[in-house]
Formats: sequence, structure tokens, C-alpha cells
Amino acid sequence: MSRSELVSPQHIERKALIYIRQSTPHQVLSNQESLRLQYALQQRALELGWRAEDIEIIDADLGLTATLGLKGQLSELELHTIRARMTAGLLNKAQRGELALLLPIGLVRDAIGKVHKDPHREIQDRLDLVFTTFLQLRSASKVLQFLNAHDLGLPRRDRFGDVVWKKPTVAAILQILKNPAYAGAFVYGKTRSIRKNPTSPHTQEVRLPMAEWKIRVNDVYPAYIAWETFEHIQDMLADNYAAYDRNKSRGVPRDGAALLHGIVYCGACGHKMMIQYKHGTRYLCNALRQQYHVPVCQCIPADSVDQYVVESFFQALSPVELDVYAAAVAAGQATFQQIEQAHRQHLERLRYEAALAQRQFNRVDPDNRLVAAELEKRWEAALAELKRAEEAQATRSVSSPPLLALNSELEMAFRAIGQHLPTVWQQGRVSQKHKKALLRALIDKVVVHRLARDRVQARIVWKGGETTTLSIPVPVGALKDLEGVEVMEQLILQRSAAGVLDETIAQELTDLGYRSPLRPAVLPSTVKIMRLKHGLFQKRSQSHPRRIEGALTISQIAHRLDIDPHWIYDRIHNGTIQVDKDPQTRLFLFPDEPETIEQFKRLRAGQFQHLRFSRGHQDA
Ligand SMILES: [Zn+2]
Repeated sequence: MSRSELVSPQHIERKALIYIRQSTPHQVLSNQESLRLQYALQQRALELGWRAEDIEIIDADLGLTATLGLKGQLSELELHTIRARMTAGLLNKAQRGELALLLPIGLVRDAIGKVHKDPHREIQDRLDLVFTTFLQLRSASKVLQFLNAHDLGLPRRDRFGDVVWKKPTVAAILQILKNPAYAGAFVYGKTRSIRKNPTSPHTQEVRLPMAEWKIRVNDVYPAYIAWETFEHIQDMLADNYAAYDRNKSRGVPRDGAALLHGIVYCGACGHKMMIQYKHGTRYLCNALRQQYHVPVCQCIPADSVDQYVVESFFQALSPVELDVYAAAVAAGQATFQQIEQAHRQHLERLRYEAALAQRQFNRVDPDNRLVAAELEKRWEAALAELKRAEEAQATRSVSSPPLLALNSELEMAFRAIGQHLPTVWQQGRVSQKHKKALLRALIDKVVVHRLARDRVQARIVWKGGETTTLSIPVPVGALKDLEGVEVMEQLILQRSAAGVLDETIAQELTDLGYRSPLRPAVLPSTVKIMRLKHGLFQKRSQSHPRRIEGALTISQIAHRLDIDPHWIYDRIHNGTIQVDKDPQTRLFLFPDEPETIEQFKRLRAGQFQHLRFSRGHQDA
């Protein structure tokens, strides 16, 4: 028994099919020859290890019924043959981009094999329109709606390779958007056929990710879009799909969370970040983990980033919004002109076709009645189509005008919205959906990068390309994760040992830029935890307001007014109350006079806007 190393036990388990293709009538006639060949092949299969009952012979000339059920297997056999013929030489040719594969619509090969854009301007312009509208609307089905709304067809090739105009479909639009030839690239091996079930003859064409394409040579064809734009479009298509996929399985994200979903990018690797609703909302960079099974790249608390970005958004609102609107006006006008152009070209083509049909009709010998009748029919049809198109153009009226440029009145209105929006936003009167839409109206993307465990850098890329960089404190799980925590600990120990109260220390540290794990300020509880960790207890007397001759401390004033000392600390911090620290005690001290308490009461009642204390006196 002569075994072949090409035949593995897996093959032996399956059926062996013997099929002699008889492609000419002569072969069918010399059927005897085929029978001999079949017998020889059957012997060969037995020698290779197949069991006799697993060998099946397909008689192609008679075996119509047999082939019906086996069509799939046969076409697969042929696929194997074709693949085997894809020799190294061919692949080399492909590698050089010289393989003359079928070109998509919009690209044509001339007699010497050079590829050009189709000289038909209408075809070029329609393809351009598909790309520009997709980049604006970000979804193939929206491009379809757009084309339908403006009654625009797509150029397609029929089975003879001729150009025909058809009603657009999502599939046709996707085919255009996904074809790398439009970005000037020659690509071979974008798909692989796999068999899901080994016992089934059916194979499935699977699209390979761009990184796994067998061969890609850029700048081979004249490009409709830049390669970067092509990649951007593929990402957008993948995102649309991913978003659909996620929403399908995860439901709609909960309200109030992750306002920047879809526009947050990882500053470490550049990938778009996804949302994780586990242990609070987080922006998660999962792309590399999915591709290469490495650990998650970055995971950043969403709420802090959202909050800071929204603040920047408010600050930037009025001037930027007006610029954005101006840009939208310009884009709208450009699109409007593209549509007008498309309609004009359509009419021009129909006029030309009608004229051509007329010429052909005029040229034919009237005695050749059959031909003359056919040509007359074509001429009539061309005229009818032209008439329909002209009528449609007329009823399209003045078309919908693009966005209007702002007049000064509207501009004022926008500025006013800019001022009121923060209030309306914080009062919860703007829906989550609108918040997201508003942010996206001005912000192109936000690139986040963790600088330290407790700090994130966010770069906002505004529409129009300007950027704002923010440094954002983010909550951390523990004290040890805080930047500079060792210095903070030393300060707490020194000040506690000097008898300073936790609250005072907390305020001092906040002033110096320190913070607690979950807050942007240092909490007295944080000071207390650190103090107790080192076995430092506050002396009994210190837990009561300290008495200082001729002066009142914040704690004493708070006690007399029956308010939280933080109410006073906050106002010192924001400048409402101006007072200097006493250099000896390092405490904020106020004159011990009835007047001081009176001033505070009036501030509380809203009768005073500010208080200012200097040594010994105070004025409102
Ligand atoms: Zn990343």
C-alpha cells in the first residue's frame, strides 16, 4: 500500500469522490476512456487507505442527480484546484500589485493595462458623494437614506461589465466603503473560506481583519480617498457594528454615565475605549487585549473625566459653537452643490443617450425593418426617461436650502444659550441623549492617558482641530495610590505632633494641593487615619476649641454660630472671607469681639457679600 503524506487520517475518515470533468462533447462521447480512468482512480483511492464503501464515483455525463446533492463538494474541490494553482509566481505578481484583478466601478484599465479613474465624471462624483456623506453621517444606512431622499442612484456593473445605474442598497454602499481599491491599494486575500461543520459541504467566506490580508500594496491605483481615510472608515464601520453588538447584549447604558462614550480614545495605544459598567463606570482600553491577549491597557474612572470635560465644554461653548456652526454651514453648502451637480450630470447623460439613440435610428437603412423598429423603440424609451427626469428636476422645486449662515440676532441667541446651559444642564433638565449630542457637536474626541494612579490627562480635540489639555484628579482605591502621599504623611505627623487639629491640617494640605483618595480635597478623616496609624492621639484639651488670647478660632466661631466649621473654611478658600493665618499658631484667627460674630451672622443672612479681617479689626 503506497501511502501519501498528503493524505492524513482525517481525510481517510471522509468520503473519497472521484469525478472526471467532461467539459467537451467529445469527452462525453469517448466515455469509455473516462470509465477506465475512473477505475484507475478508484484503485488509487483504495491504495491510499480509503474503504471501498467510502469511495464514490460521480458520472458527470449521466450523473445529474448525483451531482445535485454534491454540488457544494464539487465546487469546493474546484476551489482547491484553483487555490493550488495560485502559485508563488502569481503571488509575487500580486505582491507587486500587477495582478489584473477585476476593478470596482469607478476604476478602469486602459489598453496597456494602466488603471485610471473612470472618465465618466458622474461616476467619479457619485463615489465621492458616498464617501463624503458617510464621513458626515457615519453610517451606511444613513447614506442610503440620504441618496434615496435626493433620488440618487449608484453606478454598478452588470454581468457584461457595463455600467448601469441602480437604486442604492446598504450592501452596495458597504461594498464601496470597504473596497481598498478606492484608497489606491491593491489587496489580495481579504477573505478565507472556512468550513464550520466538517461533515457539511458548506463553506463560509469569512472576511479577514485588515492586519491579516495576505497582500497589500498601496498607491497602485488612482485614489478616491486617502489610505488614512479608508482606515478611518473601516474603524467607523467596525464601531457601528460593535456598538450594535454591545447594545444587543448589554442593553442601553444606564443614565447619567459615560457621556463621552464613543469619543474617548486611549492616549497609550490610540485605540477607542469602551465602557465598563462594573464597580462604577469606567473607560476601558480593551483593544490590545482582544487582539494580542495582553493585559488591559488602561482603565479610567469615567465620572471624573466626564465632569472635567463638561466644564471645559461650558467654558468653550459660545465662541467654539459659533465656529462649528459656521463650518457646518460651509459643509452643508458643499453637499448641496454636490447634489445639484449630480442631478445636472444625470440629465446630461440622458440627453446624450437620447441623442445617440436618435443618431443610431437615423443611420439605419429603413428597409431593415426589424432593426429600425428596435432602434426606434430604444430612442422612444430614452426620450421617455429623459422627460421623466426633467419633470422630476422641475418638481424638485428650489430644493431644500442648506443651513443658513447666522445673522447677528441668532448669534446673540447662541451666546445666551451658552450662558444658561450650565444651569439647565446641572438641574437635570437636559436629557442624557441631548447632553451626548451637545458634547459631540463641539468635541471630536477626548484622548485620555493616566499620568499617575491618582491623575489622568485628558486632551480634548475640538471640532476644527484645537485642543485643550486637562489634568484631572481621579479617585483611587487607597491612600497609598496617591501621588506624594509620603510627603503628605510627614506633614500630617509634624503638624499633629505640634498639636494642630485634624480639620486645620486637612485644610492646610488641601491648600497645598493634596487630596484624599476619593475627593479632590483632603478630608479630616484622612488626617485622622494617618495620625492614628502612627499612634498619635489628640490631647483631650485639643479636641475642644483652643483658647487664644484676644482671638477667636474658626472652631470657636462655628461653635457660637452653631454651624459646621467647613462653612467658614470653604468661604476662606473661595475668597468670600479674607483673613490671614497667624504666623505663630498657623491658625486663621479673628478678633475676639462681639462685632466679629455679628459680621458672620450678616454674611450668613446674605446681608454682606464679603468679609475682610486684618489684625485687630474687620470690615464688611
Ligand atoms: Zn490603550
